[in-house]
Amino acid sequence: MNFNELGLSDKVLQAVEATGYTTPTPIQEQAIPIALQGRDILGIAQTGTGKTAAFTLPMLSRLETGRARARMPRTLILEPTRELAAQVEEAFVRYGVNHKVSVALLIGGVSFSDQEAKITRGADVLIATPGRLLDFAERGKLLLTGIEILVIDEADRMLDMGFIPDIEKICKLVPFTRQTLFFSATMPPEITRLTEAFLHDPARIEV
Ligand code: AMP
Repeated sequence: MNFNELGLSDKVLQAVEATGYTTPTPIQEQAIPIALQGRDILGIAQTGTGKTAAFTLPMLSRLETGRARARMPRTLILEPTRELAAQVEEAFVRYGVNHKVSVALLIGGVSFSDQEAKITRGADVLIATPGRLLDFAERGKLLLTGIEILVIDEADRMLDMGFIPDIEKICKLVPFTRQTLFFSATMPPEITRLTEAFLHDPARIEV
């Protein structure tokens, strides 16, 4: 299998080529075509399997079509830690080198003002930890009604860190019609319950 058989846009394929990847990993091979169709995904995969590209590449492709309404963010990626959120931002910038996509990193431990300025200027993509994201949303500083794609990454770590109530709140703030891409390394009962509540007929991919 080759990257150009997955249905990705030319801009994305050029960026993938520039990173030096030659072959998609199993999660990429399985998840990318389904994500491009707009279907929900339940991905059971560890870190190191290439799952970041499995959700960022189709997301970039899909952002090339349609247009943000009133500068509202179109996609939201939730990560359990600041470090993971920062790594995903780095990957997003690398894969999105040919795109005019603006990314806001919303994480705790740093001042609100720069992040708020970025939201006000208009960000297409939010990469966030749950607490900081909810803080902005609940203070009325961030509207999530334009979200088309929601990524919940490392769900079992979210559970370990006590973030499930926050995730449930966030899932209720984004449109019901969004696409959800959900990843977890393991599937404890609390995570299964969460997927049953918030995913719509997901394709289950296990690598
Ligand atoms: P991840 O599981 O997303 O954290 O990715 C693990 C590592 O694999 C990262 O350093 C990526 O840059 C790398 N990677 C992702 N996809 C590929 C690929 N198709 N070929 C080679 N390396 C890759």
